[in-house]
Amino acid sequence: MALKRVPNLVYSDGKGNIYDVPDIEMAGRTGTDFVRINPEDLIVLPEGSQLFELPGRKPVGFDRKTGEIVTFEEGWAVAAFIAPAHTQLFLSSYKKENKAPILPLFAYTAVGWLNGKFYVPAVRVDPDKRQDCDQFDHNLVIKNVKRKLKQHPQNRLIHHLGENCALRYLCPAARNYFLGRWEAPIPTSPGCNANCIGCISYQPEESGIPSTQNRLTFIPTVEEIVEVAVPHLENAPRAVVSFGQGCEGEPLLVWEIIRDAIKEIRKKTKKGIININTNASKPEAIEELCKAGLNSIRVSMNSVIPEIYNRYYRPNNYTFNDVLESIKTARKFNCWVSINYFVFPGLTDWVEEYQMLRNFIRETNISMIQWRNFNIDPDWYIELIGVDGGAEKLGVKNVMKLLKDEFPHLAYGYFNPPLEVIRKYLLTHPL
Ligand code: SF4
Repeated sequence: MALKRVPNLVYSDGKGNIYDVPDIEMAGRTGTDFVRINPEDLIVLPEGSQLFELPGRKPVGFDRKTGEIVTFEEGWAVAAFIAPAHTQLFLSSYKKENKAPILPLFAYTAVGWLNGKFYVPAVRVDPDKRQDCDQFDHNLVIKNVKRKLKQHPQNRLIHHLGENCALRYLCPAARNYFLGRWEAPIPTSPGCNANCIGCISYQPEESGIPSTQNRLTFIPTVEEIVEVAVPHLENAPRAVVSFGQGCEGEPLLVWEIIRDAIKEIRKKTKKGIININTNASKPEAIEELCKAGLNSIRVSMNSVIPEIYNRYYRPNNYTFNDVLESIKTARKFNCWVSINYFVFPGLTDWVEEYQMLRNFIRETNISMIQWRNFNIDPDWYIELIGVDGGAEKLGVKNVMKLLKDEFPHLAYGYFNPPLEVIRKYLLTHPL
């Protein structure tokens, strides 16, 4: 049931304590515009979310009596980093002071407080529980990691996934691998042919912000990959194995190894889904992987407007056209093709972006949009890619509805679907 009252603005005292201001209504931000929040767009802050205080940033809201926009001076702004499977509709509402530090690579969603609860403008786009925090028994993860490392002392990939990903970064995909279920990660590539402004695995010294996780430093062998993938595809429920992870560069730079691994895997098992998360820069490599038995690809992009894409990805020796070609090639092989669409309220719902996305969907016949929150400092992003944060917008929720009405076969989600879901979906929405 929708709230009857918009929650109160919240602020932090800079010491980790959060307070609310009952006389001021929380606001949202879209691009550089401050907007009133419709209570229907609000959900209780999902479990597993985090709250951040934003240094050098003053919260902005609406005075409940006058309706005027106000900047609250007595504290720092607060944002929610909402749990996976939920898509943000508005950014945290604040004004940045000149010397404010760049924020690290997380998504900064608006948040307010009412009747003992935090609320955020967001929607759950994927019912899949694979990254819900109440699904993880970490003691069992630790026990299983130890057991598997003993069983595979020579396998560098299993050691990387255990010691680094599952136990150090608490990566949900790596922990699911050690729990023998759902989607397992297979990172392979230390290098990349793009230079994304917000790369989570590599940040140049001069960017002033840390990468969220470091890139693996070796290229696993076909044998090491097969030792991870085959038992998982054979035994895990709703099994998916995914090349292309946050702790690596671009997997297509080592496509020959991946091709050979897929061939070996498919000699041993026909089960589950073999997926690759990629910047799709090499259509010829995608063709070879599809021939080898690849089932699905997920292509990451901040925008379908080539100029905006290029300003963010800063590609080395590939073009947006190569990305389009890769997607069409994969569709030709009946691969399930998703875009990992970085949701940034104010740009994702730009009128021009929406029109281009309609053309993109028609031209490429993609299967799914994964509406994933963009992990980046909003002001830094707008400044670096040089766009008008004040341009006309349609609203993220509205864009999701308009596209679904026009392309009813298009699947929405947050995660790479397992075979069961793809089959069920194709039965009701033939592509
Ligand atoms: S494509 Fe991926 S690994 Fe490469 S720079 Fe971009 S985010 Fe980083």
